[in-house]
Amino acid sequence: MEQLKSDFDVVIIGGGPAGLSAALWCFELGLRAMLYEKEGEFGGQLLRTFNVIKNHLGIEAANGRELSEKFLLQLNSIEVPIKNNAGVTEVDLQRKIVTLGTGEQVSARTVIIATGVRRSRLGVPGEVEFEGRGVLHSGVDSKAAVAGKDVVIVGGGDAAIENALILGETARKVVVIHRRNEFTARKEFLDRAIGLDNIEFIYESEVCSINGDEVVSSIDIVNINEGRRTKVSADAVLIRIGVVPNTEMFRGQIDMDAKGYIVVNASGAASRVGIFAVGDAANPISPTISTAVGSGATAAKASSALLING
Ligand code: NDP
Repeated sequence: MEQLKSDFDVVIIGGGPAGLSAALWCFELGLRAMLYEKEGEFGGQLLRTFNVIKNHLGIEAANGRELSEKFLLQLNSIEVPIKNNAGVTEVDLQRKIVTLGTGEQVSARTVIIATGVRRSRLGVPGEVEFEGRGVLHSGVDSKAAVAGKDVVIVGGGDAAIENALILGETARKVVVIHRRNEFTARKEFLDRAIGLDNIEFIYESEVCSINGDEVVSSIDIVNINEGRRTKVSADAVLIRIGVVPNTEMFRGQIDMDAKGYIVVNASGAASRVGIFAVGDAANPISPTISTAVGSGATAAKASSALLING
């Protein structure tokens, strides 16, 4: 292992909207900060958001990637220090030592965790194998591809029902498979979906497998009450069963809730002094771009106050 190379006031882990906002605010506040992002591109979940963004105050964008490009243009124009392809593999939150995939270690006076969330997986046969061959990555992006076809959507939250509405515009039929008999999706989405002839609902059922040869042709489901298995024909499947926080690296070092979301106070401070968590990784309630950006700014201000006042 190399010797400690650098010292920062703040190390930010994760380059989505929350992390980028924290980096911008640290720069504003004159803090020596560095942001590390493991992927080749910045943006986090924005890179996987394909719908038009019109609910972030002051900026509209055709999709998440376009919005993240706007964020980066701003940061790069004033040379805010951010590094991509820089995966953090280990963090000692007590000593505030961050280890990168290269073996390099950096020390920080405070750490802002902005590692976001990832989509949950069903974990059934066919889910990974048929990615891009019937298992869709996005509803908006697949509208043309499913024209006249049969689509299955798995889930019962906003994402499932909103995508049923989107794909229902072109698909011959959309079948929503939900494991319970009531939905958590917004009433507005549900009312519209229930009113459409080509959207059907199958309740209290779980997916057992996604089947096909070259491409998806059906899925097997089981009714959770009766144990009865059925085959549902499908040309495409979209899985929208929520997200999980990317917080495994910090487990046991700071307080988390049962689902792994980091517990923070109103300033974004976690249970250990000098550690903050921002964005979706600490926010199961309102995972929006606006909230992420706001929480990044808040934690940067709180870091600054802590460093000045102790
Ligand atoms: P949610 O967590 O809101 O809903 C997840 C759904 O998937 C629930 O119906 C859940 O069922 C079901 N589910 C979870 N695990 C499984 C499993 N293993 N097998 C089958 N079903 C499962 O997630 P979403 O992806 O819908 O949304 C994530 C966040 O993004 C939410 O905050 C949502 O409000 C937001 N969002 C907002 C949109 C908008 O405002 N336009 C659009 C899309 C998302 P159960 O209820 O039984 O747990």
